[in-house]
Amino acid sequence: MAESTDKQEDALARRGLMFILSSPSGAGKTTISRMLLEADPAIKLSVSVTTRPPRPGEKDGVDYYFVDDATFDRMVEEDDFYEWAHVFGHRYGTPKGRIRNALKEGQDFLFDIDWQGTQQLKQKDDQDVVTVFILPPSLAELRQRLEARAQDSAEVIDSRMERARGEISHWAEYDYVVINDDVQACFAKVREVLDAERMRRTRQTGLIPFVRELMA
Ligand code: 5GP
Repeated sequence: MAESTDKQEDALARRGLMFILSSPSGAGKTTISRMLLEADPAIKLSVSVTTRPPRPGEKDGVDYYFVDDATFDRMVEEDDFYEWAHVFGHRYGTPKGRIRNALKEGQDFLFDIDWQGTQQLKQKDDQDVVTVFILPPSLAELRQRLEARAQDSAEVIDSRMERARGEISHWAEYDYVVINDDVQACFAKVREVLDAERMRRTRQTGLIPFVRELMA
């Protein structure tokens, strides 16, 4: 433990980043998100607020903050959201919480949001945002994964497939695109992106004093 604390103290100061993963549902984004959060304690999930009812096994405050329409309306009115959007007949939004201050302190955040939310976050805070789009290897594979999940009715799966096409059409708006043929390989690529983006010069706010001392 002591070693990791020392390491953190020695590390150069860095601005946190907003790491956005998008994909059509079923392309593996949730699995990749979970793997990333487990493997990398330096990144925290930005838990969204939604009016969608919880699926079996989903926990309030962990997967989403599940709220009713009136609460969501109030949050919109009070300007509590960074961004919000309609998805599959429900509303989803990113609460502002303490993200802005935490970014300054070097905290990274993971966002599992759709293309609409991604556009809004990019407009608000382009320099802190890194976007990754995960593509399924094929639409047939996507349908199979949605069916295997057995969480949704046939109608919901059909509408998700239709939305998948819409979501995929936004692939070119993303900084990085990874095809999820194999979940381990996809995860490894996503981690590489995150690691490289953390080293971006403009995020490493501690570099100026470091180099000054180096050259003194
Ligand atoms: P699901 O209902 O399957 O959990 O999510 C449906 C879609 O809503 C996914 O594409 C997910 O990325 C998106 N989503 C989840 N939270 C947010 C959010 O806070 N903002 C936006 N714009 N999309 C979200």
